[in-house]
Amino acid sequence: MESLIEKVLISEAEIHKRLDSMALEILTGFDGRPITVVAVLKGALVLVADLFRRLPVKLDIEFVTAQSYYGGTETTGQVEVIGGLPDVKGKSILLVDDILDTGLTLAALKAQLMDAGADSVATCVLLSKIKERSADVEADYCGFEIGDEFVVGYGLDYTGHYRNLPYIGILKEFGV
Ligand code: 5GP
Ligand code: MG
Repeated sequence: MESLIEKVLISEAEIHKRLDSMALEILTGFDGRPITVVAVLKGALVLVADLFRRLPVKLDIEFVTAQSYYGGTETTGQVEVIGGLPDVKGKSILLVDDILDTGLTLAALKAQLMDAGADSVATCVLLSKIKERSADVEADYCGFEIGDEFVVGYGLDYTGHYRNLPYIGILKEFGV
């Protein structure tokens, strides 16, 4: 599997070091309020597992499944929440996704969580692509800014694979 990786963009050690400082930023931002983490499956699975263990406060965790990619590398523009939203009424939400690309996913989920009665929704991503977004949204907490290229690893997939790589990498070619 690793022979299909063109290069490592962000190493495992760099990710973990950045998570330490991101966790401090989040703790400062929430200022002692209990946090309800809402993680976007499946991509945010690895990030959220590593991140929430760095948040030693009263915290619960929920998951949502949003689909904006359908197996390829292009977004269709539509964001579908599968299986509904958790109960977020009156809660301070930390919405965690793997990557901010067009912004459609994060914008749609943030709006839906606010509509569902959340007290506040702060957004957190490991990666943010530097590009013009289709939706007017930025992450409150962002691990790394990257160029507009397709990445895999650390939860991010290509056709369902590569999520288990411990680093962020770029594939040699698509269709492998
Ligand atoms: P957005 O709605 O911001 O365009 O896209 C968000 C979702 O698209 C992410 O949660 C992720 O699942 C997927 N995505 C966007 N860019 C990439 C990428 O470079 N690699 C992978 N594997 N998924 C991506
Ligand atoms: Mg996703």
